[in-house]
Amino acid sequence: MVTKMEDKVIAIGIDSLDPYIILKYRKDLPTLSKLITESPTFISKSVFPVDTIPAWVSIYTGLHPGNHGVVYVYDVFDPNLSNLRKLDINHIKGRTFYDYANQEGFKTIIAYPILLYPAWEIDGIIVSKSPFERRVDWIRTEIDIDVYPNTIKQKYKIADKFVGLWGGFPGIKYLKKWAELGKEIIEKEKSIGIELCKNEKWDLFFIYFSLLDIVQHRLWRFFDEDDPTYPGQTSLRWIILDYYKMFDGIIEEFIKMHPDKTLIVISDHGHRSRPIKTVNINEYLRRRGFLTPKGNGYLIGKIQSKIKKIILDCANKLDIEHWLIKLIVRNQKLTKISKSIYSSAGVIDRDKSIAYLSNFVGLKSYSYGGIEINKDLVSNIEYEKIRDGIIKSLLKLKTPDNESLIKWVKKREELYLDKFNEKIYPDIIFELKEDYSIGWNICCNLYEKAYDHKVASGGHRKDAVFLVRNVNRRIRSKEVSIVDVAPTILDLLGVDWRRLNFDGKSIFGAN
Ligand SMILES: [Zn+2]
Repeated sequence: MVTKMEDKVIAIGIDSLDPYIILKYRKDLPTLSKLITESPTFISKSVFPVDTIPAWVSIYTGLHPGNHGVVYVYDVFDPNLSNLRKLDINHIKGRTFYDYANQEGFKTIIAYPILLYPAWEIDGIIVSKSPFERRVDWIRTEIDIDVYPNTIKQKYKIADKFVGLWGGFPGIKYLKKWAELGKEIIEKEKSIGIELCKNEKWDLFFIYFSLLDIVQHRLWRFFDEDDPTYPGQTSLRWIILDYYKMFDGIIEEFIKMHPDKTLIVISDHGHRSRPIKTVNINEYLRRRGFLTPKGNGYLIGKIQSKIKKIILDCANKLDIEHWLIKLIVRNQKLTKISKSIYSSAGVIDRDKSIAYLSNFVGLKSYSYGGIEINKDLVSNIEYEKIRDGIIKSLLKLKTPDNESLIKWVKKREELYLDKFNEKIYPDIIFELKEDYSIGWNICCNLYEKAYDHKVASGGHRKDAVFLVRNVNRRIRSKEVSIVDVAPTILDLLGVDWRRLNFDGKSIFGAN
């Protein structure tokens, strides 16, 4: 088979673009729909944990999170992104797909790569957005922009600061206005991208759009009839679909501009309804004797979970969730207190507890998580026995209908055998049955309902999008992963990706 090597490649990254929404609304999304029929692949698997930062870094580097070591999870209790500031990305500099392309002499244009800020020197152009947005009001933020080379700034009239969309809950009254602002932002970012793509020289062009993720987090329950808090047809009903249509149009614009170039459309994960049913894992550990509440912790835990329930029930009824969030964002001290209450951390006696939930994926009601074993109490000899014991106990966890609750549970080294494993994963990791999520209460019922569903009804789905256009090559297998993106892009450019030690592989087979 004759193949065209060194094709020019356009890659469009859309955060949280979900394959099943595309399938469901194919009629409204003509470009994506056509891409599905043309592309040899469609659905790809995200990494663990299924979250934006680890997933995009896996896309950039072709490495599992265990090998790139960059895990940060957005957290309502970290409104100032202080943990994000601690994240070290120096070791991935020079190791992204565009650096490798550059090293082989390919010119690259990279627009808005998440986290990769400030821009570093490449043969080509980078427009980079700071990940540390400053909140301006309850719908918008201000974002510093760094451009390499600097001359591009003037040529394309790229401002020093962009308007961003606030990631927190803007309040139900402002949701519509908030979502409208998101569309304006995307439109503006696209226009700059289109101009660069049209006028500048490149072999590889990559543009990333972040906002669909937070829009789906906030608006999911208005969109999905199957969500338990779907309120019926409202003016917010079709906003998510409007975003998908907008992206369908953006992809079409790039195709029309360069109909013969290879095009890739990728996402880091999909989106779905966040599970409303929770199971209190720390409470389960307590009942099994692995976790001990503080002296009066049992009482405090009981009171706290009651208070949480009353406050949040009340907030849900009165639609004042955003006031609670606003209070937390404004007041550092309150942030700490609410985090401790939410996670029940203050009630756990760490000096007496052998194991407890890890917050490595944030304090969200997600269906996956991990358990930390307290090394101060557990000797090296006991460690494996205790770890096996906890895993066995977890496997016995049942739903109220007596179905198994654990989808899988692993020791961290059974997930990826990589160098940052110990740094980023707790001792045990697990995933619950799809419609259940982790609850953080102790000294309470085992099963409860998620408090935060009304402010964040959408959650990440493991299935992501990987679409390819204009490539006449056989694929290796339909089973693809987001770590395959970097080697695939390099393969399309004719670079020998095999020598670069990726965890992923090119999706194309040998010719
Ligand atoms: Zn994401």
